[in-house]
Amino acid sequence: MAHNEITWEPAFPERLRFVRPAVPSLDRVTRRLDRTYSEGWLTNGPLVEELEHTVAQRLGVKHVVGVASCTTGLILALQALDVRGPALVPSFTFCATAHAAVWNHLDLQFVDCDPATFSADLAALERNSPEAGAILVTHVFGAPCSPAEVEAIGRRSGIPVVFDAAHGFGAMAGGRPVGGFGDAEVFSLTPTKPLVAGEGGLVCTNRDDVAEWARIGRDYGNPGDYNTLFVGLNARMSELHAAVALESLVDFDVHLARRRELAGAYRALLAQVPGTTCQVVTDGDLSTYKDFGFLVDAETFGMSRDDVVAVLDREGIDTRCYFSPPVHRQKAYAEHSAAELPVTDDIAGRIINLPIFPGLPIEDLERVVEVIARSQAAASRAG
Ligand SMILES: *Cc1c(COP(=O)(O)O)cnc(C)c1O
Repeated sequence: MAHNEITWEPAFPERLRFVRPAVPSLDRVTRRLDRTYSEGWLTNGPLVEELEHTVAQRLGVKHVVGVASCTTGLILALQALDVRGPALVPSFTFCATAHAAVWNHLDLQFVDCDPATFSADLAALERNSPEAGAILVTHVFGAPCSPAEVEAIGRRSGIPVVFDAAHGFGAMAGGRPVGGFGDAEVFSLTPTKPLVAGEGGLVCTNRDDVAEWARIGRDYGNPGDYNTLFVGLNARMSELHAAVALESLVDFDVHLARRRELAGAYRALLAQVPGTTCQVVTDGDLSTYKDFGFLVDAETFGMSRDDVVAVLDREGIDTRCYFSPPVHRQKAYAEHSAAELPVTDDIAGRIINLPIFPGLPIEDLERVVEVIARSQAAASRAG
């Protein structure tokens, strides 16, 4: 980097943001909301019902239950399944996956992840499932985590399977939409996720009992007569959030296609940069690219992950390192014993997530990879 100190300018003087949610115009949202709002219907109303119905149709799932968040949806889904025994969970995931199990007083058994796809390791799930009470795994960055195979593992051991599908709205696994696998799948609608409501979650299930539990459970456990059946939550979705989600759905496929196009461009350009490896998406599957992640091999690249992140930051590029620290290394989980998770630790130490969102101009993306390629070239010359 033979920068002249006087003329040097960062690649993005105004900074490139990590995400910029693609939101529908406020006009459209208020038009959608107008009727129910003026009738004083603010929560759990017809727009929530319409969203549930529209998503169920789109995904071909029997039931969709709108909830306040993915986290509360996961808590209710696990509660509905009356899990007996520890939950098998990956550590290379967002904290909320594990939190949902702990809120259900479940013991955790962390499993390692696959070095290429970053999903929970299928062999580890298979090995540990006979002694487990449930499997709870994540479609990491929107790439399906072999849901049919995980389903089969659960079936063989007679334990329920729940998917943390927070990143997965729009993903396809073997030609089937994510959302219909296992005993339940739960999407998140928070602004960093592919489909946006502001805040919210969708519990998807083909099981009548799980859907009914989630419906009652999002309303404190109240079936309608205030004689609560179990200790539920306030996990209702408001009409305002449903209106945003319904309008987001209108543009969703265009945005999803754009994310995939951007991810393809990142892949093609990073393939030219020694010491970088992109997340592998299983053949025949389609990711949502909620996030784009690649690994830095310090030796080949000539710089550590943290140094690459520092360079990107100096150049005005916002990045993230998901999921670092992995869940089993977080303070909240210090009391939980975890087996050695060498792949998880390795990936968490080498991952970088680059900006990806529908409004990202391709020239900006190219400039991001240019910065990475330039650093690599300079580091290899220096080394
Ligand atoms: C964002 C996220 C969640 C939590 O979603 P909320 O809607 O914010 O509760 C859960 N799991 C994963 C993997 C996530 O990324």
